[in-house]
Amino acid sequence: MAAQPDVLVVGAGFAGMYAVYRFRKLGLQVRVLEAGSDVGGTWYWNRYPGARCDVPSLEYSYGFSPELEQEWDWPEVFSAQPDILRYANHVADRFDLRRDIQFNTRVTAAAYDDEANLWHLETRAGEAFSAPYCVMATGCLSVPIKPDLTGAESFTGTVLHTGLWPKEEVDLEGKTVGIIGTGSSGVQAIPELAKLAKSLHVFQRTPVYTVPANRKTMREAVQQEFKDNYRSIRDMQQNNAGGVSNFRPQRSVKKPTPISFRAADNNIKPLSEQERRARVVQRGLGELLAFSDVYTDSEANEIANELFREGVHHLVRDSSTAQALCPTDYGLGCKRQVLDRDYYDTFNRDNVNLVDLQATPLETITPTGISTDARHYDLDVLIYATGFDAMTGALLKANVTGRGGQPLKDKWNYGPVTYLGLQMRGFPNLFTVTGPGSPSVLCNMIIAIEQHINWIGDCITYLREHGIRTIEPKEHSESTWIEHVNEVAQGTMFTSPNCNSWYLGANIPGKPRIFMPYVGGYPRYRDRCEHEAARDYEGFELDRSA
Ligand code: FAD
Ligand code: NAP
Repeated sequence: MAAQPDVLVVGAGFAGMYAVYRFRKLGLQVRVLEAGSDVGGTWYWNRYPGARCDVPSLEYSYGFSPELEQEWDWPEVFSAQPDILRYANHVADRFDLRRDIQFNTRVTAAAYDDEANLWHLETRAGEAFSAPYCVMATGCLSVPIKPDLTGAESFTGTVLHTGLWPKEEVDLEGKTVGIIGTGSSGVQAIPELAKLAKSLHVFQRTPVYTVPANRKTMREAVQQEFKDNYRSIRDMQQNNAGGVSNFRPQRSVKKPTPISFRAADNNIKPLSEQERRARVVQRGLGELLAFSDVYTDSEANEIANELFREGVHHLVRDSSTAQALCPTDYGLGCKRQVLDRDYYDTFNRDNVNLVDLQATPLETITPTGISTDARHYDLDVLIYATGFDAMTGALLKANVTGRGGQPLKDKWNYGPVTYLGLQMRGFPNLFTVTGPGSPSVLCNMIIAIEQHINWIGDCITYLREHGIRTIEPKEHSESTWIEHVNEVAQGTMFTSPNCNSWYLGANIPGKPRIFMPYVGGYPRYRDRCEHEAARDYEGFELDRSA
C-alpha cells in the first residue's frame, strides 16, 4: 500500500495539475484522484464540435514556468479544445505530473475525522485514501446537467451532452440532429453541427446575446512579442479585474489597435441615436459590450439591448426566426458573455430550423424525437447543451462532511458560505479552488487557479512549519465575507431581478438564488488573500494544540 500523502487533491484539470507541480516544489507528498482517464478537466470532457476558449490563449495559459511559456506555440489567438487539451498533455508530460495522479477514480465521499485530524476519501470503486489536507480542485463547470424532461429515457437514438462528449468521433453525416440549449456550448456547437448533419433542429427556450469571436490564426511575430514581454504581461494580469493583461502588441502588428474608445467613461447614454448606431455598424454587435453604463444602468442597458435586436434582424434573413432569436426579457451583461463563429448566419442555412420553445413548448421526448405542442420532430441524435450545476455542484456531489459529520449540503442549505472561496468553517484543512465567493468564473480561470494553489500551498507550509493542527475560517470572517460578496454584486446587471443565470444558480430548480462568484475584481480579492497570509491568517482559527 502506498504511503499516506500529505495532501489529497480531487480533480486533474488545470487546478489539480498545477497543484501537483506546486505542492511537490514545496516538498509535499501529493496524490490526485481524477474521475476522467487523463488530465485536462474541462478540456478533456467538453470535446463537442466548436468547443473553444473565450480568453486569448497567450493569456489563458500557465504563468508558473517561463520555460513552458517560451516553448509552447498556440496556433490560434483563441484556441480550440483540441489545442488546449494538447497543451494540458504537454504540461503533464513535461513536468511528469501523471505519476502522482490516479485516473478513472471518482471520489464519492470526503469526511473529516476530528480525532485523527485526517480527511478520509472514498472512491466509487471502494478504495480509501487519507491525508491531513484535502484540496477540492473539482471545477466550477464540471457537473453537466440534463433537464428532467418527460419521456427522456424513451429516446432510442443517440443521446449526447456537450459536457460529456465522447472521445471517439461522432458521425453525424446524413443524420437529423436536435440540440437543446443555446448558452455558450450550444452557440459554439450549432454552426459546426449544421455543417456535419443532414439537418439540425435547434430547440431554444431563451435566446442569447452572442457576439462574434476573434477568429484570427496566430501570427508568429505576435506570439514572439508576447513571449518577449511575458513577465510584464503576467504582472498586468495580476492587476486587471478579469485577470487578462490586455497587452497590445505594438512591434508585430500591422496597424496598432486603437484602444482609447474603451475608456472607463465610454457610455452609451450620452450618445445620439445616430452615433450609437454608427458605432455598431462600424464595429459590429460586440461594440455594445464596450459601453460601461450598459452593465450598471438599466436605461443604458435597454438602449444596447434594442440595438442588439436590430442587429440580429440584419443578420438573419427570415424575420420570424430573427424575432425568435432576439432576447427580450433580460439584458446584456446578466449572463456570461457568449462568443460565436457564424451563429446567426447558421440560421440562414436551409438545413437549420429554430424551434422556439417559448412559442411552442416542449411537451415530451418520444422514442423517435421531440414533441412540442405544435408538432413532432423526428431525430436520429439528441444533443443536450443544457449546462452545468455550476460552482457548488461538484463539491456537493462529492458528499463532503466536516467536523461532527456535518454535511456540506446542510451548511450550504441557503447557498454557499465560504471565506474567500477557499475554506469553509467546520471543514478544517479542506480547501476549495476557485470556490464560490472568489473571482473564479469572472476571471481568466488559469490566473485564478494559480493564485489559489499558490495561496493554499503557502498556507499548508505555514501550518506545518508552525505546528498548527488545523485551519478554518472564523465565523465572523465567513459571514462578513459573504455579506461583502453579495453587496458588490448588487446594482450590477448580474443580479437584476429579471436575470436568471447559472451564476445565480437559476438554471437548477430549487437551487438557492445567490450570486456565487466575487465580482469585486481579481486584484482587490488577491490583496485580501495576501493580507491574510501576511498577518498570520488572522481571519482564520488556527488550532495550535498539536
Ligand atoms: P476542471 O477543468 O473542471 O477540472 C475538474 C476535474 O475534477 C475534472 O476533470 C473532473 O473530472 C474532476 N472531478 C470533479 N469531481 C470529482 C470527483 N468527485 N472525483 C474525482 N474527480 C472529480 N474559463 C476561462 O477562463 N476561459 C474560457 O474560455 C473558458 N471556457 C470554457 C469552456 C467550457 C466548455 C467550459 C465548460 C468551461 C470553460 N471555462 C473557461 C471554465 C473552465 O472550467 C476553467 O477555465 C478551467 O479549465 C477549470 O479548471 P479546473 O481544474 O478548476 O476544473
Ligand atoms: P448554459 O449557459 O447554462 O446554457 C444552457 C442552455 O440550456 C440554455 O440555453 C438553457 O435555456 C438551456 N436549457 C436548460 N434546460 C432546458 C430545458 N428544460 N428546456 C430547454 N432548454 C433548456 O450552459 P453552457 O452553454 O454549457 O455554458 C455554461 C458555461 O460554460 C458558460 O457560461 C461559460 O462560462 C462556460 N463555457 C464557455 C465557453 C467558451 O466560450 N469558452 C463555451 C462553453 C461553455 P434557459 O436559458 O432557458 O435556461
